[in-house]
Amino acid sequence: MSKEYVDMSPEEFRKYGYQLIDWIADYFEKIEDYPVLSQIKPGDLKSKLPQSPPQQSEKMEDVLRDVDKLIMPAMTHWNHPKFMAYFNSSGSAPGVLGELLASAFNINGMVWKSSPASTELEEAVMDWLRQMIGLPENFWGIIYDGGSASTIHGIAMAREAIEGTEFRTKGMSGREDTKRLRIYQTEHSHSSVEKGALILGIGLEGVRKIPVDENYRMIPSELKKAIQEDRENGWLPFCVVGTIGTTSSTAIDPIPEIAEICKEEKLWLHVDAAHGGSAAILPEMRNILNGCEHADSFYFNPHKWMFTPIDASAFYTKHPDILKRTFSLVAEYLKTEHDTSAKNHMDYGMQLGRRFRSLKLWFIIRYFGVEGLQKIIREHLRLAKLVESWVKESDSFELLAPVNMSTICMRAVPQKLKAEEEINEFNEKLLERINKGGEYFLTHTKLNGKFTIRIVISGLRTTEKHVKGVWEHIVNCKKEQLGMQ
Ligand code: PLP
Repeated sequence: MSKEYVDMSPEEFRKYGYQLIDWIADYFEKIEDYPVLSQIKPGDLKSKLPQSPPQQSEKMEDVLRDVDKLIMPAMTHWNHPKFMAYFNSSGSAPGVLGELLASAFNINGMVWKSSPASTELEEAVMDWLRQMIGLPENFWGIIYDGGSASTIHGIAMAREAIEGTEFRTKGMSGREDTKRLRIYQTEHSHSSVEKGALILGIGLEGVRKIPVDENYRMIPSELKKAIQEDRENGWLPFCVVGTIGTTSSTAIDPIPEIAEICKEEKLWLHVDAAHGGSAAILPEMRNILNGCEHADSFYFNPHKWMFTPIDASAFYTKHPDILKRTFSLVAEYLKTEHDTSAKNHMDYGMQLGRRFRSLKLWFIIRYFGVEGLQKIIREHLRLAKLVESWVKESDSFELLAPVNMSTICMRAVPQKLKAEEEINEFNEKLLERINKGGEYFLTHTKLNGKFTIRIVISGLRTTEKHVKGVWEHIVNCKKEQLGMQ
C-alpha cells in the first residue's frame, strides 16, 4: 500500500491497471480455453475464502493471483461463445471500457447538477436507441438496472394513471372505496410482472393469465372477454403487459390488436421487449415492434442482446409526466436552481443514486456503429435459421416453437419412446448430458408440458463454428443417451 497516498498511488494504479487490462484482453482472446460452465460444487469457493477480512494491507499481486486461482474456477462464462443458455448477456470490450470509466468517475446522477454529463448523455443515448429500434419521437427514455425494474416502473405508472383512486396519497390497503386491481399477461410473460404485482400491493390474484394460441401468443379475443368478465365481477382492470420475445420461446404477442383493446377499455399498455427489442435495429425485423407506437410504456435490455455489460435496461414512455408523478419526492437537500430548466433523473424512478450507465452504451454504439451492431445481430438470426433447418431435416428431433428470432426450442424424439412422460425424461437427461463437462451451456423450458431444450444464439463471440459444434454435440449426446436406455 502506498505510504504517500491514501488511495493507490498513480504509479501503482497504472501498473495494476495495465496488468488487468492485459489480463482482460487475454481473457477475451482465450475464453474458449475455459469451460463455459463452472465445474465447482456449491460451497467450494466459499470454503477457500478467509472467514474474516484482512486486517492489514495485502499486495495487489496476491489479489490478482487469486482471481486466477479462486475466482476463475467458480466462473460460468456469460461471454463464452458456447454459452447458449437463458438469454445471453455478453459484454463487448468497448462496453468494458465504458464501465471502467464510469466507475472511475463514480458520479451519482440523481439530479442534473450532481452530474450534468450523466443526465444529458443518458437522454441523448436513449434517443439514439429509440431511433435505432424505430420507436416514435414522442417516447422519452431513461435507463434502469434491468428488465424487472423496467416492468415494475411500467406497472407503477399504470396504477398511478388510474383516475380517482389517489393511490399515491391514500395507498391501497384498508380501503373500501376502491376495487381490486387486475393486470393481464399470459403464462409466458416474464415473472417480473407478477413480482411487480407483489411489490405494488396488487397481489398475485390481481394478475390474470390470458390463454395463448398454438404459437404461445396472447389471444386478443380472450383478453377482451377476461376484461369484460372482470368488470362484471367487480375488478378494476388497469394494465396489460404484452411481450415481444417471451422468455421461453421468443413468442411475439399481437401488440396491434392488444393496443386496440387497451384503447377501447382505457387500459395501460406496457410492452416487455427485454431480449427481442434489440432485433428491431434491423430494418427487416422492425415489424416485430408493430403496434408498440401505441404502448404507454415499453422497454428492452441492451444488456441482453446489444453486447452491453450488465446492467442496462432502456425504458421508454410517452408519459414522462405520469412517471414523474409516480416517483417524484424532492427532499429539501435535493432542491437545485436548475429544477425548472433540467430533468432530474431521481424524479423518474425508484432510484435516487444512479450510475453513469449511458457511458458504456455511448462507447458501444460509437465503436460498432449502428451498421456494425446490425451485422452481428443479423448473423445471429442467420445462424438460428441454420439450426432450425437442421432440426427440421432430422427425424430424431422436433421444433417446439417457431424460430422468431435467434432462439431455437426443440427436443429429441427417440422413435422407441411414445409416452410424453418418457420423452420428457429422456430430454431432461439429454440436457444434463449436453451440459456435463461444461463445454456448452444450454437451458430448458416447458412448452405445453413438453420438456424443451433451448439454443439461444445471441452471444457476441458466437460464430457458425460454435453453432455447428453445439449441434454435433447434441446429436452425439443423444446417441449416447439412447445407448444408455
Ligand atoms: N422480460 C423478459 C422477456 C425476459 O426474458 C427477462 C429475463 O430474461 C426479463 C424480463 C427480466 O430481465 P432482467 O433480468 O434484466 O430483470
